Amino acid sequence: MTRPYIDVHAHIGDTVNRTPPVGQTPEKYLARMSESSCIAAIPCPAAGGPQARGVLDTRDQNELVAGMCRTHPDRFPIGLGIVEVRHLQAGADELERSMRDGGLHGFMIHPGISGHAMGPELSPFLEVVDARGGVVLLHVGGGGYEPRAAAHARHFKNTIFIMAHVSMRKDHFPNAVQHLAKLDNVWVDFAQHPTADDETWDIAAHVRHFGPDRLLFGSDSPYYDHRLLQQQVEAAAISEEVKDNIAWRNATELIRRFCPDWQPTTTPVTTPAHFAGTDVWRWLPNTHGRLA
Ligand SMILES: [Zn+2]
Repeated sequence: MTRPYIDVHAHIGDTVNRTPPVGQTPEKYLARMSESSCIAAIPCPAAGGPQARGVLDTRDQNELVAGMCRTHPDRFPIGLGIVEVRHLQAGADELERSMRDGGLHGFMIHPGISGHAMGPELSPFLEVVDARGGVVLLHVGGGGYEPRAAAHARHFKNTIFIMAHVSMRKDHFPNAVQHLAKLDNVWVDFAQHPTADDETWDIAAHVRHFGPDRLLFGSDSPYYDHRLLQQQVEAAAISEEVKDNIAWRNATELIRRFCPDWQPTTTPVTTPAHFAGTDVWRWLPNTHGRLA
């Protein structure tokens, strides 16, 4: 039987400020879920989306995710919005609206694509989430952002932090372990972990350093073919029980902090009719670090 996966790191919408543009609709992501045994996910917008109308565009991006969660509560029990630091108070207001009226549980932000340095400029947004007790996904991989991300986690204790991409390169991994392991409110994903690793930073090393209960499966869809990462989990020198933890059990635990009655469904996702018989994996950039 194929192991079910819960994906805590799925971007919906379009990144327009990179070449070539990358994106996916909710339906295309559902099609990708159906072909990769993902039974549920925590969706968030794509960084680098359209901004011609400023925070109104951000609201549309947040509403797209909120709509997915309303339409498919079994598949998307919680969802995250996006913030743009340069929106300042208007952005914090939209975040508050998205959580209050849209039912979202926090936000995702990307330093490189959205133009911030993971520092105190995030605090007004983290205040909004922390006041409500929510979830934030921070892209820490690759930029030396781990100490600043850890400082936020120590400060905003009512917030669960998903620290994304802890091991995109070998030399990042010790930093991530040093700063992000053993924090009460920190969980990590290892999206885009390269296949060419060694025992100092392979998936078994993640389990040793971060513990079997804090590792999450994050696809970073649509920037990566996450079936590669699933193959790595399945091939890892760890127990079946820990593979289940990474694949779905830890994410279930996280989601139930917000939706205590939520149960992961065992029914596979059905491919939306539009994508039946098509190759939904074409055009995915598989090269490591291309778009984190
Ligand atoms: Zn991402």
